[in-house]
Amino acid sequence: MDKSVRNYLKQYDISDATQRFLAKPQKMFINGAWVDSGNGAVFDVIEPSTGGLVTRVPSGTAEDVDRAVEAARRQFDGGAWCRLKPLERERLLHRLADLIEKHGEELAELEAIDMGKSVKFAREIDIQGTMDTFRYFAGWPSKLHGRTVEPSLPGNYLAYTRKEPLGVVAAIVPWNFPLQTMAWKLAAALAVGCTTIVKPAELTSLSTLRFGELVQESGIPDGVVNIVTGRGSVVGAAMSAHRGINKVTFTGSTPVGREVGRTAVGNFKHVTLELGGKSPVLVLDDADLRSAALAVANGVFFNSGQVCDAGTRVYVQKTVYEAFLEELVAVTRTLKIAPGLDPDCFIGPLVSAQQKKVVSSYIEAGQCEGAELIYGGGSLDRPGYFIEPTIFAKCQPEMKIVREEIFGPVLVTSSFEKLDDAVSLANDSAFGLAAAIYSNDLSRVHTLIPRLHAGTVYVNAHSTIDPCMPFGGFKASGFGKDLGPEQLDYLTETKAIWITLP
Ligand code: NAP
Ligand code: MG
Repeated sequence: MDKSVRNYLKQYDISDATQRFLAKPQKMFINGAWVDSGNGAVFDVIEPSTGGLVTRVPSGTAEDVDRAVEAARRQFDGGAWCRLKPLERERLLHRLADLIEKHGEELAELEAIDMGKSVKFAREIDIQGTMDTFRYFAGWPSKLHGRTVEPSLPGNYLAYTRKEPLGVVAAIVPWNFPLQTMAWKLAAALAVGCTTIVKPAELTSLSTLRFGELVQESGIPDGVVNIVTGRGSVVGAAMSAHRGINKVTFTGSTPVGREVGRTAVGNFKHVTLELGGKSPVLVLDDADLRSAALAVANGVFFNSGQVCDAGTRVYVQKTVYEAFLEELVAVTRTLKIAPGLDPDCFIGPLVSAQQKKVVSSYIEAGQCEGAELIYGGGSLDRPGYFIEPTIFAKCQPEMKIVREEIFGPVLVTSSFEKLDDAVSLANDSAFGLAAAIYSNDLSRVHTLIPRLHAGTVYVNAHSTIDPCMPFGGFKASGFGKDLGPEQLDYLTETKAIWITLP
């Protein structure tokens, strides 16, 4: 560990448990054992608020994926896991949720140290969300069932359906909500009786590795959850191509998702793709501008803008455009930029030097293309990957900053006159993850909702996420759903059974 990181952890007085975890050599979790990568390779884990080295993590190989698949297959095809009764699976998932709760503070610290996010939000959103997701899906195993039906065919038949788990599920996870996204994929897969292999993002493996220890402690049999750390182009690609895996559930960028989908479908795997976004936000002239500004600022700057459904394109009705921007700038000014472990941090650093470079280049492009920079735009003169929250006005639909996902604290805004124009602007995007409307006029709101091409529509809110509601995109934002009862259909096969009766 670099001295800069050691001092940083000391300054914020992180727990002994986290210090102990960070001090020990990191291994992967395969078949219930903690192992090195087959070729002994490792990669660096960097702390984004300081840019210093935290530890090193094994860089897995295709052979490591083979070993994980073998273990997961053994459990699925006749192992202890597949013989468990539904209520026994429920009990194990609840036990795991209890362990996540018990070690929540540690997990929140790891998330803040590894990803740079605000430790407060890690606690309140990431860890709470992870726990809630396991608790929600823990309730499902005993409630999964098929149908018994009465066919109209001549003759006498018993016809019924069975819901059966798909098999071995591989989860490929991004770095912006490492533990929570992993939970979205694993909890439901385990609930229906699948076995799993997780590949965390290279930038953020630590909380998932700590989670592996909790899986072990929960009593879930060895090989049901495997964690292979490493590069996407090696571990992720091997998972997409592997014939022993029945489903890949991927959250990440649209270009990588396209590649994963192509490979996985090429060998007849099921696929869920949760991809990028450029979510539009419509502020109508009757909206409460102050509360809308507060929600819009939260909706785009939370997690330093590294949120797939962030409301990054704001369209405001012309008569209130200037007044709304004033409110928005006033709110943005109050958001504290600080290292992730600072208890008051709202905007932490970006996840990596590379991400900072990409986001800065978009800010430059916006200025070159003639958008009006009305707030922020700079990076902070201190160690770590900090960028100011940034707001552009008078943006045009063809601008790069309007069309592409930036994945940083950058907001583009423009005005519209009629609602039809707002709908055209909102839908003028390759993506379709989410959309938001700010208005108190119910008839206008309800007319707009069906016209927006997005997997989620928030009204007077943003990124309200709960395990009881499905989450997933339209268009280039992917297909399939995580969360809600809907997710269960993406992890099960329906078998139709016909029996001739005398
Ligand atoms: P990414 O670069 O696409 O990576 C996502 C995951 O895929 C990582 O684990 C990555 O491993 C792995 N990967 C990379 N190349 C691969 C390959 N050839 N085959 C298989 N796996 C591969 O995305 P990211 O930068 O981590 O995350 C940001 C993106 O995720 C944004 O576009 C964001 O919108 C999207 N996202 C979407 C949702 C949603 O629910 N729709 C939620 C969160 C984020 P490495 O870490 O080694 O690169
Ligand atoms: Mg990191």
